[in-house]
Amino acid sequence: MKLCGLTGGAGMGKSTAAGFFLQLGARVVDTDEIARELVRPGQPALAEIQREFGAEIISSAGELKRDQLARLVFADSAARQKLEAILHPRIRERWLAQIKIWRQENCAPAIVVIPLLFETGAESHFDKIICVACSAASQRERLLARGWTPEEIQQRIAAQWPVEQKISRSDFMVWTEGAPEIHAQQVGRILAKL
Ligand code: ADP
Repeated sequence: MKLCGLTGGAGMGKSTAAGFFLQLGARVVDTDEIARELVRPGQPALAEIQREFGAEIISSAGELKRDQLARLVFADSAARQKLEAILHPRIRERWLAQIKIWRQENCAPAIVVIPLLFETGAESHFDKIICVACSAASQRERLLARGWTPEEIQQRIAAQWPVEQKISRSDFMVWTEGAPEIHAQQVGRILAKL
């Protein structure tokens, strides 16, 4: 089984690419989804987050106020490191467990979506790395459309490696400036090579 890491900048099209890989028969595990599962009510990571960031970060229904926490950690790198220390080891444990199962089945190529693949030093786990990228102007437009303020965009981009560096260390690049069909074709060509 070929194991690929899929990364790229915020809003550059990682989830869309992952969807195309899935449609074309690859197995996909998305670390953003794992992160959301890990902070559901009752999960130990949520209790740790509450201890670290205070009870006000949890709603009266027991749910994590994700937007509030995101604003807090992207404005304060020490806080972000604390959150990452709680989440990253657990996220890695989960996708590694999934990969172990897929390896036993010796199935189709598996794709792990990891926005911070290089930043967290995860390269060595993968046979190949795919970087999803677009221009800085399109990225900004897409993130504004997501409702992020210019300040939030700047903070979140600053919290990641520049995409050029990610591209230069990847085996494949998907350029998402064009139409979704062109994006899907690029994914198909990569999958055929894996
Ligand atoms: P990420 O997972 O990297 O944050 P998403 O796939 O969630 O990115 O979002 C990418 C955004 O860019 C979507 O709103 C999508 O509609 C838009 N977009 C425009 N053109 C493309 C393209 N060719 N491929 C992927 N996304 C595109």
